[in-house]
Parts: sequence; structure tokens; C-alpha cells
Amino acid sequence: MTKLIFLGAPGAGKGTQAQILAENLGIPHISTGEILRNSIADGTPLGIKAKGYVDNGDLVPDELILDLIKERLGQEDAQKGWILDGFPRNVPQADFLTNLLQELHQICTGVINFDVPDDVLLKRLLARGRKDDNEEVITHRLEVYRQQTAPLIDYYEKHQLLKNVNGDRELSQISQELETIVKS
Ligand code: AMP
Repeated sequence: MTKLIFLGAPGAGKGTQAQILAENLGIPHISTGEILRNSIADGTPLGIKAKGYVDNGDLVPDELILDLIKERLGQEDAQKGWILDGFPRNVPQADFLTNLLQELHQICTGVINFDVPDDVLLKRLLARGRKDDNEEVITHRLEVYRQQTAPLIDYYEKHQLLKNVNGDRELSQISQELETIVKS
């Protein structure tokens, strides 16, 4: 059973690695950023509420995300495993998840922290060219990461779940390390 949280700054490569590993393991890759982008593209009520925050590089308010995660982790395909990519993003979300997993009788098997130097993050994000990847928004997203998300590294270290992975390597080297971690 693999139930992993992927942590890391924007551009750390967690989305790409989550997609590869989830496909190999046949478990859902749950990306809150992707859910939000799809909702925005479809013009759903969630998308309409989230758009301004996503465009500016701010976190959307917790109340828009928490119900969504609760529903997603309760679905049938999530019982046999999952990779969470982009959630939790702050301490209140992490506390919510800890309680939710207890309620659902699920256990998180590990938290992978993708470590990548700032100059590499910036270069990767500028090359990616997503709508929220212009230089001003990127700088803001990196600040939001440092202030709100980076404290989760300590949080999960205290829960004895944290595993650091050097994300500044070839894609395939990182995938290989993740496969090894999952098998161990
Ligand atoms: P990502 O694809 O994970 O980089 O997320 C893109 C954007 O979606 C972020 O900059 C936030 O605006 C929003 N977002 C994604 N996940 C969350 C979350 N867990 N909490 C709040 N906002 C989020």
C-alpha cells in the first residue's frame, strides 16, 4: 500500500514524478493544482471562486480545498493508494489531513520532500510557461511556499514520515530512487 504526500517548492518536479510513480503503481495521482486548473477551465463554481488566487500565485482559501480532498480520498480508487501532489500546503491543511486520515482509517506511508536550489526552481518555472509562470507570479509563489508550505518539512519530520530526495538530478534518477523508497 502506497499513500504518499509529495512536498516541494513550485518547480521541484513533484508533479512529474507523482504522475510517473502513480501510473507505475496503478494508484491515483491527486493534484489539487490540476483539479483547480480544470475547474477554472470548465468555469465551475469552484473554478470561479479559485481563479483570482491561482492567477496571483496565492493559496486558495482552505475551505475551497478541504471538502474536495475529503471527497476525493473517500472515493473507491483511493482506498488502495494515492499520491498527493500540492496538498497539504500549510499547517492547517496538514492538521486537517491528519484528522481526516484517522477518520477514514487510512495511513500515510511517507512524505517525500523534493529538494531543489532556488536558482534551478526559477529556471525551470520560467521554461514551463504555464499561465501562472510569469516572473512576478513565480517570485510570489516561491514566497508563499517559504512562508506557508516549507514549515511542513518540520511538521512531517516530527511525525517521522519525512524522506528528503535530491530533486536536482535527471528525471530518471529521481524516479528510480522513488521506486526504491516505495519498495523498501
Ligand atoms: P500547483 O499546480 O500545485 O503548483 O498549484 C497551482 C496553484 O493552485 C497554486 O499556486 C495555488 O493557487 C492553488 N493550489 C493548489 N493546491 C492548493 C492547496 N492545497 N491549497 C491552496 N491552494 C492551492
